Amino acid sequence: MMNSSSSFGIFCHKHPGDLITHGCIEYNCESNTIMCAKCLQTDTQHTEEHRLSILPFSDYIQYIAAEIGKLAAPNTSFLHKNVAGVI
Ligand SMILES: [Zn+2]
Ligand SMILES: [Zn+2]
Repeated sequence: MMNSSSSFGIFCHKHPGDLITHGCIEYNCESNTIMCAKCLQTDTQHTEEHRLSILPFSDYIQYIAAEIGKLAAPNTSFLHKNVAGVI
C-alpha cells in the first residue's frame, strides 16, 4: 500500500483499510463525522443531508484544530484524540 499522498492518515473505524477522506462539521451531526470514501458511498442520506458541511479532510482538520483551540479542557472523544495527535 502506498502512502505518498499525505504525511498522515486516519483509518476509518468502519472500514479499516480505508483512509478518512472527508469530515462533517455540521454542529448537530449524529452520523459519522469523519468518513472514508466507502462511508460517503454507503451513507448517501448523510452525504445529501450535510453536503454543505462535509469538507475534504485537510480542511476539516483545520476547522477542528480551531475548535480544539477554543476548548479549555481536553475533550476525550475519539475524534479529538485522533485529530490532536496529528496536528
Ligand atoms: Zn453530518
Ligand atoms: Zn468508512
